[in-house]
Amino acid sequence: MNARPKKSFGQHFLHEKRYIERIVSSISPKPEDVVVEIGPGEGALTLPLLAAAGKLTAIELDTDLIPDLQARAAAVGELRIVHSDVLKVDFTALARELGAERLRIAGNLPYYISSPILFHCVDHAAAIRDMHFMLQKEVVDRMAAEPGSKVYGRLSVMLQLACRVEPLFTVPPGAFRPPPKVDSAVVRLLPLPAEQRHDADPERVHAIVKAAFAQRRKTLGNALRQLMDAAAIEAAGIDPKARAETLAPLDFVRLAKVPTQA
Ligand code: SAM
Repeated sequence: MNARPKKSFGQHFLHEKRYIERIVSSISPKPEDVVVEIGPGEGALTLPLLAAAGKLTAIELDTDLIPDLQARAAAVGELRIVHSDVLKVDFTALARELGAERLRIAGNLPYYISSPILFHCVDHAAAIRDMHFMLQKEVVDRMAAEPGSKVYGRLSVMLQLACRVEPLFTVPPGAFRPPPKVDSAVVRLLPLPAEQRHDADPERVHAIVKAAFAQRRKTLGNALRQLMDAAAIEAAGIDPKARAETLAPLDFVRLAKVPTQA
């Protein structure tokens, strides 16, 4: 406990009790839930989550933190720590292995890879019931942004196509050791039920969204030039002179569904 936090692993340990309690009560884990924590660190969230759920799987990259956490958890519940980079964990396979219909995932995420972790979870959304994440506040603002907002972009569209995004509350830097330079926020993500998920090719959707926002000041006609021509954009009922930031998430699905020319 109280190891020197490692910058390279994005370690900012949460120590303020009232925020820990707020996160745990937002999650409200039940013994029948299958809970997975990303980056348990010194266990600020792990131990109270474990106390409520009885069992928990945690994924931690820093080997140095594991023995102490494993020892402290012994009296609280059944903690299984997987030593791995979370980006290499197949959540769909993990759900199957743990006998869960869907996982409940939580974590105070390492900020240096927060977007890749979010995209990775979205890829496994069908195997996830909900996610509660601490992130930079600025990232939560982007995730929840609506069309027309300055911060609406690739993250907003990709997240909103897969999940309901519910920002919960802000957490100040002083709640962590060491304090990060920015405000943080806790967000809840609820993967959409199967009947509300889009049926376009996910890779095509992602390629279009990525290209559209890579050059957000350009018109769609220009930004998507490598992927589709103006006629194809019009075929989706969208003006090729429009800019990506004016499109709703489902407009990108319509673009992805326009048949590509042979
Ligand atoms: N949950 C703890 C807390 O709230 O105090 C620690 C949060 S700290 C912001 C992020 C944690 O993620 C650290 O324990 C860090 O070692 C771990 N981590 C960093 N990169 C990771 C990765 N790629 N896969 C899994 N865990 C990672």
